[in-house]
Amino acid sequence: MTADLPVLEIRNLHKSYGALEVLKGVNITAPAGHVVSMIGSSGSGKSTLLRCANLLEDSQQGDVIFCGEPVIWKGQGAHRHPGDRRQTIRIRTNLSMVFQQFNLWAHMTILENVMEAPVTVLKRNRAEVEAAARAYLDKVGIGDKADAYPAQLSGGQQQRAAIARALAMEPKALLFDEPTSALDPELEQEVVRVIKALAEEGRTMVIVTHDMRLAADVSDHVVFLHKGVIEEEGPPEAVFGNPQSERLRGFLGAGR
Ligand code: ADP
Ligand code: MG
Repeated sequence: MTADLPVLEIRNLHKSYGALEVLKGVNITAPAGHVVSMIGSSGSGKSTLLRCANLLEDSQQGDVIFCGEPVIWKGQGAHRHPGDRRQTIRIRTNLSMVFQQFNLWAHMTILENVMEAPVTVLKRNRAEVEAAARAYLDKVGIGDKADAYPAQLSGGQQQRAAIARALAMEPKALLFDEPTSALDPELEQEVVRVIKALAEEGRTMVIVTHDMRLAADVSDHVVFLHKGVIEEEGPPEAVFGNPQSERLRGFLGAGR
């Protein structure tokens, strides 16, 4: 049954930028309804992994499997790339990304930002998309900002708009890349609350975060990445409560 297949599986993924090997055989599984968090020092390859997962980056070896469907690669090694355009679009639209810097379109209102991809990429009915977009904006608590422009919103509101935009694609999973890192501490919490609510709804999510509290609270599984290798992983109680590797202990200790 497809319902039992993980939404996303990454197997033995290798990714280099020229001579720099950034991912050295990484495995990650995101079962449906689970939250996987990825932690690790800056430069350890977390963003690269998310970008490889939704095919924004090529990779040289290993597999990306979306709902049981392996990415069809073309070419080999440095020339390898996703070979089926329709599949690439399907995977990318089903793994919606939320970025550290929100990446809202400055010249569009918040509502237009949320509606853009469902209308232009998914070719959905405009009126239906608008109704859904307004509901998602309500859900993240900024329904009253629909007609504002991004610059008129606080960072926390902009990030919540970006989450509404990701939800409007009705993706199979959400991928978050440090969603609270660009925010002042007092605005972080409003975004954390939204992410927690999504976790409680049973959304499948992969969250890269520096916020250990968030990772501990929402995750089913935590992965500690170090220089492109998974150094340690497990349930949050184990990773945070009883870290085994020296490096993870050092990493967690440094943040306290
Ligand atoms: P993290 O998100 O964990 O901080 P990244 O995935 O952004 O780490 O980066 C991992 C490594 O890959 C770093 O050494 C970074 O400098 C390098 N890197 C990232 N993107 C590129 C790129 N487009 N070209 C060359 N090197 C890159
Ligand atoms: Mg990063």
